[in-house]
Amino acid sequence: MRKIMAVNAGSSSLKFQLLEMPNEKVITEGIVERIGLKDAYYTIKVNGSKEKEVLPILDHAEAVKKVLNDLIARQIVKDLKEISGVGHRIVQGGWYFQDSAIVDDDVLTKIEELCDLAPLHNPAHLVGIRAFQKVLPGVPNVVVFDTAFHQTMKDDTYMYALPYEWYTKYKIRKYGAHGTSHKYVAYLAAAMLDKPLEETKIVTCHLGNGASIAAVKGGKCVDTSMGLTPLEGIPMGTRSGNIDPTVLEYMSKKEGYSLEELLVILNRKSGYLGVSGVSNDSRDLEARVDTDERCRLALEIQYKRIADYIGSYYILMEGIDAIVFTAGIGENSSRCREKVLNKLKVLGVEVDREANKARGEVAEITTKDSKIRAFLIPTNEELMIARDVVRLTEGK
Ligand code: ADP
Repeated sequence: MRKIMAVNAGSSSLKFQLLEMPNEKVITEGIVERIGLKDAYYTIKVNGSKEKEVLPILDHAEAVKKVLNDLIARQIVKDLKEISGVGHRIVQGGWYFQDSAIVDDDVLTKIEELCDLAPLHNPAHLVGIRAFQKVLPGVPNVVVFDTAFHQTMKDDTYMYALPYEWYTKYKIRKYGAHGTSHKYVAYLAAAMLDKPLEETKIVTCHLGNGASIAAVKGGKCVDTSMGLTPLEGIPMGTRSGNIDPTVLEYMSKKEGYSLEELLVILNRKSGYLGVSGVSNDSRDLEARVDTDERCRLALEIQYKRIADYIGSYYILMEGIDAIVFTAGIGENSSRCREKVLNKLKVLGVEVDREANKARGEVAEITTKDSKIRAFLIPTNEELMIARDVVRLTEGK
């Protein structure tokens, strides 16, 4: 039995889950927030309830120390030697990584080089890795990339129709995101179909505050909605998704916005929040659909775009066996799932309204007669990370 830590380090936060492998049991999980401040928050789940502490945590190494010391103090682990591997979620693996990797100097250099493409995320991940290297010397660190699963896309899919030199010189292309989640739910769905993995055609809809869709044929990603960055694709909690880029020039002339300001608006003030003017949270919008026209509209725009992607993936894969819904909205909003699936009636999709009331658990949500099956499958990125740590470090 091994204890593996799955880590997601942000610029001022560090989320962790401690898992027992290979039996895939979550031992505990928690988060350090507001790292860098005198009143940082440390939260850990103990026996199902959350315990929170406010204390100064000035950098990520201190955050890691706090977490590990607390695990010892609570006797969740008796000796730090019990933790035999750490897996880190990395947002951008670019063209370098088709799979997860054990951290060494070369891997760190490549993640560093990719900071340009993920300036908010990759630097924070590096800080997280270095903190664990310092506090747990000798314990292998493994990096698991959000982009790796999408590296199987063909060039006609990942290339933009832009000057070719932008690709050769600056590697401008589609990379996608949420790959760990898409892979996890696609493989679970494939196992629920009565055919070999190589013959399966699955569309996975990861609908959280950030949201993306992927087409997975024979277990490999053939297309996904996010692009160079997570801004491309369907509208999300605060992101616009696809727009005509000319809007930027037009609005800079009308309102005097700089390019940086416009990108903040597209990333943080658009999507649900921008259209509704109320919230980036789908629950707030769903609660107001009957009374607030803009809340209804914000949701409808997104549902339409999701259906558009699924339709185009139907053509790309020459059919679809199953559509999967996952992440916060996909796992909890029966309204979203029903509205999207009803737009696909022409493909023979029939929602089972009773089954679609399910929340947060695996469920088949289409009728027996439906030509395409649809599933709700809760995602589990931490488990995928822990599995990759085990796979890559076993026997080393
Ligand atoms: P992220 O990881 O991208 O921050 P999550 O996967 O946690 O996002 O999803 C957040 C979204 O899930 C929010 O829009 C939230 O409103 C939505 N959500 C969570 N629970 C429900 C629910 N019961 N009904 C509708 N939406 C929900």
